[in-house]
Amino acid sequence: MTQKDYRVLLYYKYITIEDPEAFAEEHLALCKEIGLLGRILVGYEGINGTVSGTIEQTDAYMSHMKADARFNDIMWKIDEVEGHTFRKMHVRPRKEIVHLGLEQDINPLEITGDYLTPKEFMEQMQDDNTVIIDARNDYEYDLGHFRGAVRPDIENFRDLPAWMEAHKEDFADKKILTYCTGGIRCEKFSGWLKREGYGKSVGQLHGGIATYAKDPEVKGQLWDGQMFVFDRRRSVPINQVEHVIVGKDYFTGEPSERYTNCANPACHKLMLCEEKHEAFYMRSCSDDCRRAERNFFVEENGWTKEQVEAQIAKIAEVQQSNC
Ligand SMILES: [Zn+2]
Repeated sequence: MTQKDYRVLLYYKYITIEDPEAFAEEHLALCKEIGLLGRILVGYEGINGTVSGTIEQTDAYMSHMKADARFNDIMWKIDEVEGHTFRKMHVRPRKEIVHLGLEQDINPLEITGDYLTPKEFMEQMQDDNTVIIDARNDYEYDLGHFRGAVRPDIENFRDLPAWMEAHKEDFADKKILTYCTGGIRCEKFSGWLKREGYGKSVGQLHGGIATYAKDPEVKGQLWDGQMFVFDRRRSVPINQVEHVIVGKDYFTGEPSERYTNCANPACHKLMLCEEKHEAFYMRSCSDDCRRAERNFFVEENGWTKEQVEAQIAKIAEVQQSNC
């Protein structure tokens, strides 16, 4: 029997924090005292965190935050899990907690998209004149996304404004909807869309996909695949009504929702890959990575350079016959 005595908390708050460095230091001491593990970013513009701990520990943390007037209205996203989903506890001061690469940054407290509840978001998604823009990274989209959502062709969130500018015409008379994991990236991105005059209207999914998944009425509907998360779990289910797999194995294109990292530590690229294909492709994203100075797969298996080259030749053969 599985016991879910642990929780993952996902949260953020845009609010002025006067001295992020001092705050981070104190906050790290607090988290360690409670016994939490996870990653928290602190900046002048606010706080953004994911932490794991027991029910008692996470309760203690949330009470502590609620007692602070700056954080008492945080919208917590809570997942039940079987153990810690992080190995360490970090609280890091940052210039920005969300980096959109803007010369003139957005303060979501001043301008942001219209907040939509999961139900409102689901209804508006089905409007013909609506375009849904995924405000996450490409590898997150590839595991799962809202049905019909646009996948901006970018590697990093900070490249999104430039991509949008190149496609501005396409969105001119559309109602724009945008979403991300917990809602924090959209606050800034939708504020930017508004400031720059995109679309007829700009809406954002309040509380993100994580909140949408928990809504008892919408039950995660119209979500295909799973949701990528930045902790040991890697992916979590969203749609409680149907499960459509959209992820594809990096090497073969077969349906896959299993993540692995490229075995070249200097690359570390995240790839969807079925376990049965790992060994054949040496768990490496390219021949360059297979031949890299260090390669964990090669080290684990004690392969010689000749063995590596022989395998690369076999891979080339299979890939040619697939063309
Ligand atoms: Zn690689």
